[in-house]
Amino acid sequence: MAYSWQKDPYRSIVKPRKDGVYLSIAYGFKDVATAARIFDGSEEGYAYARCGEGNPTVRSFERAMARAEMGELVAGYDALATSSGMAAITLLCLALATEGKNEIVSSPFIYGGTYSLFTQYLPKLGITCKMVEDPNDITQWDRNISSKTAFVFIESASNPLVDIPDLEKIAEFVQSRGAPLVCDNTVLTPSILKPLYYGVDIVVHSVSKAINGHSTGLGGVIIADKELIAKIRCSWAVVLGAVMDPDCAKRMVDGLKTLPERIVRHSQNALETAKFLKQNSKVSKVHYPFLPSNASYKTAIKQDMTMGGPLLAFEIKGNLKDAVNFIESLGVIIHATHLGHNQTIATHPASTTHSKIPKEEREKLGISDTLIRISAGREKEKEFKKILKDIETALKMTKL
Ligand code: PLP
Repeated sequence: MAYSWQKDPYRSIVKPRKDGVYLSIAYGFKDVATAARIFDGSEEGYAYARCGEGNPTVRSFERAMARAEMGELVAGYDALATSSGMAAITLLCLALATEGKNEIVSSPFIYGGTYSLFTQYLPKLGITCKMVEDPNDITQWDRNISSKTAFVFIESASNPLVDIPDLEKIAEFVQSRGAPLVCDNTVLTPSILKPLYYGVDIVVHSVSKAINGHSTGLGGVIIADKELIAKIRCSWAVVLGAVMDPDCAKRMVDGLKTLPERIVRHSQNALETAKFLKQNSKVSKVHYPFLPSNASYKTAIKQDMTMGGPLLAFEIKGNLKDAVNFIESLGVIIHATHLGHNQTIATHPASTTHSKIPKEEREKLGISDTLIRISAGREKEKEFKKILKDIETALKMTKL
């Protein structure tokens, strides 16, 4: 008799699910012709974890990400999961920067690792990068985009200053110049903003952050039209081999399911923290897009954002020593380089995430020695009060 979960007196409280974890890395082929078609990309199918469709559990996460970013319009879109966010961005650079098109044009307000990739590492491979000064100034994109441009790169909310660029305006212009627009949507996540709806061509993510939400998996994703994903899948993805692990993919699938509820709490705590900081005399500036006084607020509303996400930043009055004192005086908030985790985290970008950018260049980008980044967690009322108290106490330790 076939096993019936409903009739099993010893059944677990968790019903067996179709989305179990498939650990196999190699799959049998029906015949030689099918194997050849999977290998040349003309037919979808499983072959080996680094080739073809990869792995069924990873594939279900990829499909879920494409749906999350494209909603009901997903039909023409697909996704490719990678071993980290940096692997996704690197893979995209290698795939898009082809002969004759070896230039990236980028916003400078991006995660430090991406900044280093564009300015220090890719030039060693003959791929160069031009940075505009103000992503919302179309004349600057105009001056920098040329027939050599492989793609244009922005973040939907910049890390660490949480500036929100006008995606529709930038996308319209960039595409009129024949270049694809790539947008890193890590900080906001598709629960807050879906860049593809605003004309962006390709979205990348570090899913290690809020999508996972519990710091239990490192991963990245590229979401783009099916043809481009298929092309990357059977070219650079195969030879780079930076694929996502199936166990990790399962944690990402589960994280994505609870993201819509989690991100609301992150955003509420972030807004309350930003308002709290604004009232403190030891703080000279607070960066959070959902503060009506913030320069990005209008753009956020124009882009139908209903919340601001987990990330905020602020300037402490004083100098580097005061910033260090603040960080080292925290007792409840975790000092780490991470965001979108369920507990509140404080980061000092100048000494960590953006430390590879020369000081003068870094300061021009608004990342001073006194800038502190906060990733608001999901603490409930009583715990959240402790977070605010921790900030208040640590600010008292600064001299000014
Ligand atoms: N993009 C952004 C906006 C990030 O903040 C990060 C990491 O902090 C990355 C990409 C890189 O992601 P990963 O750490 O998963 O490689």
